[in-house]
Amino acid sequence: MVSKESLEALKYSTKDVYSHISAEKRREMLDLCDEYMEFLDRGKTERECVNTAVEMAKNHGFVPFSEKGTLKAGDKVYFINRKKNIMLAVIGSEDVEKGINIVGAHIDSPRLDLKQNPLYESNGQALLKTHYYGGIKKYQWTAIPLSIHGVCYTKDGEQVEICVGEKEGDPVFCITDLLPHLSREQMSKKLSEAIEGESLNILVGGMGVNDCEIDQSVKMNILNILNISYGITEDSFLSAELEIVPSFKAKNVGFDMSFVGAYGQDDRVCAFTALKSIFDVESPAKTAVCLLVDKEEIGSEGNTGMMSKFFDMAVLELVNKLDGGCDMIKYNRVIRNSACMSSDVSAALDPNYEGAFEKQNSAFAGKGIAIMKYTGAGGKSGSSDASSEFMHDILSVMDKNGVIWQSCELGKVDKGGGGTIAKYVANLNMNVVDCGVPVLSMHSPFEVTAKGDIYMAYKAYLAFYNDSI
Ligand code: MN
Ligand code: MN
Repeated sequence: MVSKESLEALKYSTKDVYSHISAEKRREMLDLCDEYMEFLDRGKTERECVNTAVEMAKNHGFVPFSEKGTLKAGDKVYFINRKKNIMLAVIGSEDVEKGINIVGAHIDSPRLDLKQNPLYESNGQALLKTHYYGGIKKYQWTAIPLSIHGVCYTKDGEQVEICVGEKEGDPVFCITDLLPHLSREQMSKKLSEAIEGESLNILVGGMGVNDCEIDQSVKMNILNILNISYGITEDSFLSAELEIVPSFKAKNVGFDMSFVGAYGQDDRVCAFTALKSIFDVESPAKTAVCLLVDKEEIGSEGNTGMMSKFFDMAVLELVNKLDGGCDMIKYNRVIRNSACMSSDVSAALDPNYEGAFEKQNSAFAGKGIAIMKYTGAGGKSGSSDASSEFMHDILSVMDKNGVIWQSCELGKVDKGGGGTIAKYVANLNMNVVDCGVPVLSMHSPFEVTAKGDIYMAYKAYLAFYNDSI
C-alpha cells in the first residue's frame, strides 16, 4: 500500500513564509523591511537610488572602480553610469572565465515627467504640464499629494537639485479631479479614457505677484519664487529632468503590519534586496555583481538602460584589471559562463481581481520569492524563457539554502503581459531567469509587497551569490 506521506511527497506545493521561519528570523525580516522603507523614502528617482546605493556601498567597504589599480579576490568596487545606473562587484576567488553571478534590477519607476516647457497659467492658477513615463493608470494620479524631484541648470550653468514635497512642512502638488456632481459624462467613459494624458497637469500656484500689475501674474509669481529659491528661469526647464512622484512615505500595511505600502517598489524592492545581499557576500568563489539599471519601464532603451553598452564595458574593465588584460575571446567566455537572476517584481494574486489570474501558476503574497521561467505577452512574446537546465540549477540553490520560493507567470494567458531586462541580458549569451517579489497594485502610486517575500528575495540573492552556479 502506498502511504499518504509518500504520495504527498510527490506533489509540488508552495510554503507560506511566516509559518516556516523562526522567531529570530522574523525579527531579522522586520528589521530588513524597516531599512527597506527608509531606502524607499530616500530614493524616489533613479538618481536618488544611485546616490543612496553609493552611500550604502561605501559603508560596506566598496570603492570606485577607478581608484583600484589591479583587482584581487575579495575586492569590492562599483561603477556609476551617468548618475542613473550603477554596478557593484565583489571579486571572487575562482578564475573569472568560469563566469560571474549577476543580480540585475531596475531603479526607474512609472511616474510623471515635466514637459520641457511645462509652466502655464489658466484661470488664475499656475500649472505644470507633464508627460507620463512608463505604464500608468492615469486616474490613479489625480487627487493625491505629489512631490517634485530632479535636476536643472541655472543661467550660469550651475546644476541645481530640486526636491520639494518630501520634508515636513514642504508644500506638495496635485492633479485635481472633477467633482462627482459634474462627472456624469466622465463617469460614463472607459477607464482608460476618463483621464487624458494632456490633462495630467500639476497645480503649483494660485497667487499673483504682490503689488505689481503684470500679465499672467500667478505664473510670474511662481517663476519669481523659483528664481529666488534656485536661481533658475523659465528656460531652465528646457534641459531639466524633473520627475513628479507621490509625496507620501512608505507605510506598514495591515493590523499585523505584514505588508509594505509605498511608491516605486517596482523594482526598488529587488534593487534593495540585491544591494543588501551583495553587502553580505563573504569571499565568493564567483565574482558577485549587482547591476541596477534605468529605463526598464520604457523598454530598457537609452544609455542608462539595459540595452546600453555600460554593462559590457564595466565587465570588460573589471576583467582587464583582474587578469591584466581582456580580449573579446576572454570577455565572451566570461559572459557565456555567467548566470543572472533578472530580479523584477511579479504580480501577486489579488483577491479583488482573481479572474485575471490562473491560480495554479500565480504568485501569492507571502509565499516567497517568485521564480518566473518566462514573462512576455501573448505567445511569450518579449520573453527570454530560461532553459530547463538553468531553472533546475537555480531551484536547487534555493532549496539547498532554505529559500522559500514559488513558481509563477504574470497572469492568465492572453490577459496582457510584460517584459523585463531578462531578454537583453540573455542576448549577451548568458543564462538568465526572471525572479522577484510579488506585488499588489503594481505601477500604482501605492504598491504593496509582503514582508516575507522581501526577506526571501534577500535570502535568494545571497544564496545565489554564495553558492556558485
Ligand atoms: Mn519592473
Ligand atoms: Mn514595471
